[in-house]
Amino acid sequence: MFRKFTILTSLILVAICLNAQLTINELMPVRGFSIAAPGPLSVDKFVTFIEDELATRDINVLILRVDYNYQYKSHTELQNSVALSEQDVKKLVAACGEHGIRIVPQINLLGHQSEGKRIGNLLKVYPEFDETPSVKMPEEYVWPNEDGLYCKSYCPLHPGVHKIVFELVDELMDVFETSDFHAGLDEVFYIAEEECPRCSGHDPAELFAGEVRRIRNHLAKKDRRLWIWGDRLLDGKTTGLGMWEASMNNTHRAIDMIPKDVFICDWHYERPDKTAVYFAMKGFEVATCPWRKPDVARLQVQDMIAFRSGSTPEMKEYFQGVILTSWSSAEGFMRNYYDATGEDGAK
Ligand SMILES: [Zn+2]
Repeated sequence: MFRKFTILTSLILVAICLNAQLTINELMPVRGFSIAAPGPLSVDKFVTFIEDELATRDINVLILRVDYNYQYKSHTELQNSVALSEQDVKKLVAACGEHGIRIVPQINLLGHQSEGKRIGNLLKVYPEFDETPSVKMPEEYVWPNEDGLYCKSYCPLHPGVHKIVFELVDELMDVFETSDFHAGLDEVFYIAEEECPRCSGHDPAELFAGEVRRIRNHLAKKDRRLWIWGDRLLDGKTTGLGMWEASMNNTHRAIDMIPKDVFICDWHYERPDKTAVYFAMKGFEVATCPWRKPDVARLQVQDMIAFRSGSTPEMKEYFQGVILTSWSSAEGFMRNYYDATGEDGAK
């Protein structure tokens, strides 16, 4: 899928550039790819993938979901048993640097603190940060379930949580030598829970916005920038976008409570929803994020170009580009890609 999508995208971009005599950066400033960071044994292969496949297609942003796949010196207790070393990361930094690719490392903050039946490292080591301690991890995970458990969240008002996660963030930003950090923040379903003595009764939008501001302000101290997925800022009911690609748990009003310099990754995988316009009109830089439907992705690329060319000079620069997301492992993606066996892996 990626091969089909990127080749097609490249052709569209080149044709339009020639036609309009625009540079590719004028046409679409952000041309990104998002995937899980490779494991230590796959770093060299991934470097080759960066050089042979991403750089040659003018990809200039690489979101890498690192989470606990790094040998953190600040918190060795949180790293995965097998994790990237500093030397591994420097190989990725060098390859991307050589080709002008900006790395945006990601640690999921607030939400996505568990996946399926597996609890994430933060809540495993620090269970006191759990927003819903009464919800036990199931032996077999099924959705839907009685607890409404999709992923656990940490409590954004716990007095101890930010010191720890910000130490991880700072260390990751230093080792990746980058100024852009992705905090995830998608699909946060557990927020303002009744059982949480700190959060119960609070407005979910206020809590969500408070967490965004806190992370953003921490990064800003070192001139670093926050990137997030956009779904919690969209009204799922009015738009009909529902609980995944948008919010059905009253977080969407946070869009008017957060700083405008947060970069929005606006993901829509089923239809080319034009919500980038909404973010742009609110004054946010935004990139549209497709996944595994090439027909949808093609329309999203065309829409983004049309938004830029059809906007006022003031609005145009908010429409930053397109970031292809993959929810498989780097290893699985490369295996499918090079074997050309077909579909991207399932989320
Ligand atoms: Zn709480």
